[in-house]
Amino acid sequence: MPRKMKPESLMMSYGYKPELSEGAIKCPIFQTSTFVFKSAEAGKAFFEVAYGLRKQNVGEELGLIYSRINNPDLEILENRLTLWDEAEACAVFESGMSAITTVLLEFLKPGDLLLISSPLYGGSDHFIKKILPKFNINVLTFKVGQGKDEVIQLVKDSGLADKLAMIYIETPANPTNDLIDIQAKKEIAKHFSTKDKEVYLAVDNTYLGPLWQHPLKHGADLVLYSATKYIGGHSDVIAGACLGSNEMIKRVKGLRTFLGNMASPNTGWLLLRSLETLKVRMDMQALNAEKVAAFLNTHPKVEKVYFLGNLSEKDGEQFKIRNRQCLTNGGMISFDIKGGEHEAFNFLNALKLIKLAVSLGSTESLAEHPATMTHSDVDEKLKKELSITEKMIRLSIGVENYEDIIFDINQALESA
Ligand SMILES: *Cc1c(COP(=O)(O)O)cnc(C)c1O
Repeated sequence: MPRKMKPESLMMSYGYKPELSEGAIKCPIFQTSTFVFKSAEAGKAFFEVAYGLRKQNVGEELGLIYSRINNPDLEILENRLTLWDEAEACAVFESGMSAITTVLLEFLKPGDLLLISSPLYGGSDHFIKKILPKFNINVLTFKVGQGKDEVIQLVKDSGLADKLAMIYIETPANPTNDLIDIQAKKEIAKHFSTKDKEVYLAVDNTYLGPLWQHPLKHGADLVLYSATKYIGGHSDVIAGACLGSNEMIKRVKGLRTFLGNMASPNTGWLLLRSLETLKVRMDMQALNAEKVAAFLNTHPKVEKVYFLGNLSEKDGEQFKIRNRQCLTNGGMISFDIKGGEHEAFNFLNALKLIKLAVSLGSTESLAEHPATMTHSDVDEKLKKELSITEKMIRLSIGVENYEDIIFDINQALESA
């Protein structure tokens, strides 16, 4: 039996044949819009498969046609991304938002009901609440901590239970690290599925990235990423990905072809490079986050720390979900500084090593103020409910030496 290698061992070679590219050890950037067919018959065969006119024969590869449909950089990237989540298939996009919006548009139709968790990423929240209603798609929100029976009742009370088409969640929630039980949401999807209509569960897994949580293993049908974050990991590219079964990704790619929002060859190439160090980067980020959280936990100017590693037996369900779903405590920490906006801003302005910027998952540590930055759009009442207050600061921990990160946080806390 050939050895089943770990994904990190395969990120330098999987799916790439050097002999097809003059022996180049690295996959080149296939900066080309179209591909030359060997014969008219070959061109015809490629189109038959690409447009679904006939089934792919056993062993027949989908030929390269045109870079909106397929391109070697994208195909190799998609194949490598499937390894982390052990997914059948993957589709990559020019942004996380294009992956998310394409999935929502493909699997929802007028009259349908979409059930979502709260809070969602601002862009997703805007698309779902402001754009989808234009297409007569109904949206229902459940809260962190609401149990399975409660959510089932919520759907029934909406009067649209027979229209439920998809459950869309983000866990851990940004910026509070609140967890949602993926398995329980799958059970709700099953509860409302019928012989002719399957209710799908989609999970935005950006916050823990493809190493630290595998939603497909807990019953999700689709997993989504802003590849801009941990996957890209260098704050130099915007991209997205969606993974799931062959059947579902075929539908996603079908719509992608016609929306034309696939990733470019250059984006594909950048992400191939990023994937080679994904494991070492994320290992270091998780380790650094543990050290930073431990420091914050004891600092007198810090009121509360929101970190998965702080969950314990007394947190009940949240602790159980963490143990079941999360493979590490992640690299994202939020904390409340004693005081309010004034103290929070003083802290942010005093940072020297850590950069004041939104986004997350990159090599450099970042800090931001959710209430007035990433979550400024969330209405005031909901912000209070979610504990997104003026004193909250969100940190994305990078790969720097953790003693330097802690030194920087400490000096900024002192001057705040
Ligand atoms: C950044 C982000 C997105 C959007 O991704 P882009 O690559 O910026 O389009 C979606 N979901 C989450 C959780 C994110 O952090």
